[in-house]
Amino acid sequence: MKLTDDIESVKGVGPQLAVGLRQLGIRTVFDLLDYLPRRYEDYSDVSLIQNLRPGPITIRATVKQATGRYVRRGMHITEAVISDETGSLRVVWFNQPYRAKALKAGEAYYFSGQYELSHQRFQLMNPSAELVKDFPLNTARIIPVYRQSKTITTNQIRKLIGACIPLVSALPETLPSAMLLEHALLSRSEAIRAMHYPDSREQLMAARRRLGFEEVLELSLASLLNKQENAAETSLTIQFDEKLARDFVAQLPFKLTDDQRKVVWQIYQDMQRKSPMNRLVEGDVGSGKTVVAAMAALMAIKEGFQVAFMAPTELLAKQHAATLQSLMEPFGAAPLLLVGTMTTAQKKRAYEHITSGEAKFMVGTHALIQEKVDMHTLGLIIVDEQHRFGVEQRKALMAKAGHMPHVLSLTATPIPRSLALTLYGELDISVLAEKPAGRIAVATQLVSHTKRDALYAAIKSELDAGGQAFVVCPLITESDASEMMSAEHVYAELQQKQLVGDRIGLLHSKLKAEEKDRIMQQFVAHELDVLVATTVIEVGVDVPNANLMIIESAERFGLSQLHQLRGRVGRGSKAAHCYLLLSDSTRPPSKRLRAIASSTDGFRLAELDLEIRGPGAIYGALQHGALDLRVVQLTDTKLIAEARQAAKEFLESGETLLQYKELAARVKRLRAVTNLN
Ligand code: ADP
Ligand code: MG
Repeated sequence: MKLTDDIESVKGVGPQLAVGLRQLGIRTVFDLLDYLPRRYEDYSDVSLIQNLRPGPITIRATVKQATGRYVRRGMHITEAVISDETGSLRVVWFNQPYRAKALKAGEAYYFSGQYELSHQRFQLMNPSAELVKDFPLNTARIIPVYRQSKTITTNQIRKLIGACIPLVSALPETLPSAMLLEHALLSRSEAIRAMHYPDSREQLMAARRRLGFEEVLELSLASLLNKQENAAETSLTIQFDEKLARDFVAQLPFKLTDDQRKVVWQIYQDMQRKSPMNRLVEGDVGSGKTVVAAMAALMAIKEGFQVAFMAPTELLAKQHAATLQSLMEPFGAAPLLLVGTMTTAQKKRAYEHITSGEAKFMVGTHALIQEKVDMHTLGLIIVDEQHRFGVEQRKALMAKAGHMPHVLSLTATPIPRSLALTLYGELDISVLAEKPAGRIAVATQLVSHTKRDALYAAIKSELDAGGQAFVVCPLITESDASEMMSAEHVYAELQQKQLVGDRIGLLHSKLKAEEKDRIMQQFVAHELDVLVATTVIEVGVDVPNANLMIIESAERFGLSQLHQLRGRVGRGSKAAHCYLLLSDSTRPPSKRLRAIASSTDGFRLAELDLEIRGPGAIYGALQHGALDLRVVQLTDTKLIAEARQAAKEFLESGETLLQYKELAARVKRLRAVTNLN
């Protein structure tokens, strides 16, 4: 067998099992070995029967007798009495009728399983059992637990990997040998073997260290190379005009927060340099990113350059254009809107103004990257909600400049520091942590679904007082899950029962982009009172008159997602409420729901989300699915620092990556994913 062989060449894998494995992403023997455990159960300590404590345990015992019987239809019980030199114990298996025959009296087995109280006595429930004289896969060791699917169990995967494990020695090394030595890292094959079959906790830790190190190293190399490339480019320098900045700030209807001041200052410094700015501004919803963008644009326009500000939806682009009109017009930099739904004649005029350089400040959607748009002297690009754009789209906008423009990216997704360091370690990041003064935190409550009617009454009185409300559902259409989870169902019910006569809109991702924009626009204009929606409303829309939100089946949403959703209300000066409906009121609310109810600090919640769900959650939000950090713990700042340092030293040493083909290929892919300009 070879690593590249199809999975069907593994003994015991037929066409049917192969289909299931492929669904898990396992196509070859290599993929199988690369399928790392999600977690482990430690059964490596073998206890004596007389010392047993409740919990996961392993004992080494012989079977006296085992009998099986049906207690009723569909319910089979196997009972056995097993013993070691210190005592004996009752073992029970449910619906595993083969057990009684399989267990040989007098033979020594390892039994690993849960020792627990059941029907007023302690017993060992559904343990795995393996002959001591065999190589144990499921007992008496640290047992890997794999992500399973509907058709494949973790036990099956364990068995298949057990059969292929000798092949790990054929895995080629990916890291320079000097690096392994210097950082005391296991070889790749040792590490993969130990991930599946660790001999000890120490060995497992060493394996995780090696693989985690490699993940961070790859990311760091990618961002360092991106940074090198960026620094080698020359851009147009934009001088800072202090009087202009002061005049602009003076006409604002509010005082800038200290964070806003600081970030604007950083941007001005970046733009004065010869190398292009590549800065990401992270600011929670409502932290005031737009005015920061405006101040960046102001300086670039004063210098005679054009500025393009791209937003992910028409609605957002229009909203920006309207806000920026009043801010920028007094400085001769009124925005020109360019969106897809404009008429051909309107677009044609816009193109002419852009090409002639008459238009200084273009605000729009993807329409800005259409072929017909020919910029005059594009000096600065601003991308709002940057994660909503693909690499290609950002590149297309930059290509309009004909040279390297300054790039300012904005995001409302708070990225915890540890993650930002690994992801964008070499990028310039600014954070708007502070909220503008006078904001009232959105009061958030967890409510049982049985109280739904009371909440609908709350909507009713909110509408009567002239307000608006959101109802968010996890699904579009009814499924076998509860019907209240579906936006279509809730929409129909509100129309027919609780809110007869009120103007209700339905918004979800299956609608066409123009349709979505139209509905959102109606809600903004208060032509709709209630918007029933799925998570599509997450992105930065401002409806200051909407101060009530109900989120159906809140358990189904991630923490960061709930926070983003909640950010849609409380954008005016009035107190706002967010009700999280729990569809299962028998269980206490989860840690993440309690967290969201008690905090409105986006960064704190993101850190928590990272702890609870791991980096996948945040990558999901950032659409960085292409990046999978499977091993490294982002809380392991020591390892991260060490690997980042190793990446720097590797590049400084003058060694070339090309020598390490697999590493080079991965770094290349990551460069595309993590590059912001
Ligand atoms: P986001 O960061 O979510 O894009 P916006 O830029 O849309 O936030 O700002 C949200 C609201 O806060 C806007 O109405 C804006 O005018 C207002 N705002 C911005 N900065 C301040 C400030 N320093 N003080 C008071 N209000 C501010
Ligand atoms: Mg915004």
